[in-house]
Amino acid sequence: MLATPLSKALKTTTSHLKRLKELGIETVEDFLKYFPRTYTDDRQLKQIKDIVIGEANTVRATIQSIYSKPSFRRRMSVITALIGDETGSIETVWFNQAYIARTLQKGMRIVVSGKIKYDAKKGKISFQNPAFEIEKPEQIHTARIVPIYHETELSLQKTRPGRLSSKWIRDKLFPLMGFADMFPEFLPEEIQKTYGLIPYAQAIRTVHFPKNEKELEQAKRRLAFDELFLLQLAALYRRHQYRKTTHEAKKSIPADWELIKTFSESLPWPLTRAQKKAIYEIIKDLEAPYPMTRLLEGDVGSGKTVVAAAAILHVARKKWQACILAPTEILARQHLHTLSKTLAPFEISPALLVGSTPAKEKREILEGLKQAKISVVVGTHAVLQEKVEFDKLALAVIDEQHRFGVRQREALRQQGSPHILHLTATPIPRTLALILYGDQDLSILDEMPPGRKPVETHVVPEEKRTKAYAWIAKEIQKGQQAFIIFPLINESEVLEVKAATQEFERLRSEIFPNLKLGLLHGQMPTDEKQSVMEAFCKGQIQILVSTAVVEVGVDVPNATIMMIEGAERFGLAQLHQFRGRVGRGLKQSYCFLFPSSPQTNSLQKNKILNRLGALVKYHSGFQLAEIDLQLRGPGEVYGTAQSGIPDLKMAVMSDAITIKQSREAVEKIMDSDPELKNHPQLKQKILEQENVAIDY
Ligand code: ADP
Ligand code: MG
Repeated sequence: MLATPLSKALKTTTSHLKRLKELGIETVEDFLKYFPRTYTDDRQLKQIKDIVIGEANTVRATIQSIYSKPSFRRRMSVITALIGDETGSIETVWFNQAYIARTLQKGMRIVVSGKIKYDAKKGKISFQNPAFEIEKPEQIHTARIVPIYHETELSLQKTRPGRLSSKWIRDKLFPLMGFADMFPEFLPEEIQKTYGLIPYAQAIRTVHFPKNEKELEQAKRRLAFDELFLLQLAALYRRHQYRKTTHEAKKSIPADWELIKTFSESLPWPLTRAQKKAIYEIIKDLEAPYPMTRLLEGDVGSGKTVVAAAAILHVARKKWQACILAPTEILARQHLHTLSKTLAPFEISPALLVGSTPAKEKREILEGLKQAKISVVVGTHAVLQEKVEFDKLALAVIDEQHRFGVRQREALRQQGSPHILHLTATPIPRTLALILYGDQDLSILDEMPPGRKPVETHVVPEEKRTKAYAWIAKEIQKGQQAFIIFPLINESEVLEVKAATQEFERLRSEIFPNLKLGLLHGQMPTDEKQSVMEAFCKGQIQILVSTAVVEVGVDVPNATIMMIEGAERFGLAQLHQFRGRVGRGLKQSYCFLFPSSPQTNSLQKNKILNRLGALVKYHSGFQLAEIDLQLRGPGEVYGTAQSGIPDLKMAVMSDAITIKQSREAVEKIMDSDPELKNHPQLKQKILEQENVAIDY
């Protein structure tokens, strides 16, 4: 019954059905799960004598008269009604809503809700375009807590008719509420009891048409709990499955603390406390009889690579193989460089396997991996998908890959389910990490290597741009290097490249004619990118103009100036990542944020300046992430599409209590029934959402 198609259950037009389908709403069940975005409280009924000018008022009244008159001059239709209750009467006017004349008649009882306007010239007050509803046993649109839905246009032309308005949705949903009782309960009774949760069916019904706040709160809490609970259950279930597959693989590697000590002493600087702790956690994990799934989180420059290197060394020394995978070739090469240097004292020389590796060399490497002659390989994520066969892969380090999906996980399973260490510079607050990466343990580098000077950050208003350019040119002539970043202007990479190219030409010929500039963008062939990066590293290029491709990982200590155009288009966390490209050497570094001009209004401008101001003040990625999260919500901060942030409807990431309770509930179930044998409905639910849920 819940699966009844809406074409059968609703009386409506095909264009409405089509629009619903575009929203993923095809059945009664889908429709009932289309939750309100917010609510308005329209319960305060007033008598007409108590009406307040300028405020929203809701009255229950009788139509005493009603007439419509087309106003040809202004091409409008006007409907005027006089409505009254026992305390008085008031004029009500609707513009351009001709259908009202067919709906309302003299003598009808209606509820009217809206603002009152006072016409000083005529000395008259009236309702202007109020919401109204004919009196019913239960009002749907007025005189209640009214659900408000995301409204969508039916077509791109903004002509009516054809909006999925909140009113339309309420009208169509209300008669379907009887179906709500058919939603089966899937939460075990014990969990419902422990956390005081109302039944699922009741929550669905109530969330649309609540009788009072208390009911509504209970419904929202139940639905929020469900979302968090199911995400985490899916994650822990997945982890259990992954661990199980490798139980037999016996990749438990006994900790060798002597080796770690020797490694640490081989480094040119002491490890930070945070690095030591992370290494300890990882080496302990490698000992376990099941594979590690761990996320190492640390600000740009916090020194994640050396932590990974310790783990790689440990694995390689125990005659196992390790791989490290980066999202781009540039980063893979950089890892190769760092690892080769770090592991040289231990006579381990990593191989590089990337798209541009010549065929012959590739064959040799593949052969070497198959026969375990090569113990460490650095490559791009693409390596995983290729026909690589390891003899005994025990560790996969995965750098900056948010969307690590079912396929990648399967590929690793094929390689005998190695220990997995994810590295990310995206500072994800702990609570959020629980939800996003519920199946991973977390190590956090919350401390920077000593001696780093915070990057001096400025938001540059348009009128100071020329001055900023002059200052930058002077610094560069003294031997510094700079980045200029351009945002993704359109969703199209082609246009982005065009914009960056044009800007590059302008900068080169007009702004910095005496300096050497280079351009880097996503559509350049790999070898060209490579040679530009190399030239920048060697100082042959003084200013690197780039689209967002340099976002992660690149390490050029002599670069001390970061300029970001259209800065307001980026999130704080992302800006912070860009900023992390500089400040890597000993010299003072600078970051200049240029908002795009012109801003449409000063309110918007202030908002932008405020947000960017956070970067001037804060230098910890974690702090900035928290602020960004509060200002913009997780979807926007981390980009739903890119990072696989689940599309939470009811739950909010700041709701630490529900997150904690749902986690607790999930752990209790997984402890006693990790295969979910006794919880078939739960198992079904999480398998259903597997496709949309984030993987580790
Ligand atoms: P990220 O976490 O951004 O990947 P890296 O691993 O690239 O950071 O490290 C950034 C820089 O800091 C590198 O040049 C590295 O050699 C250096 N570094 C790492 N750990 C330390 C430390 N404990 N003390 C001093 N410098 C360090
Ligand atoms: Mg890095």
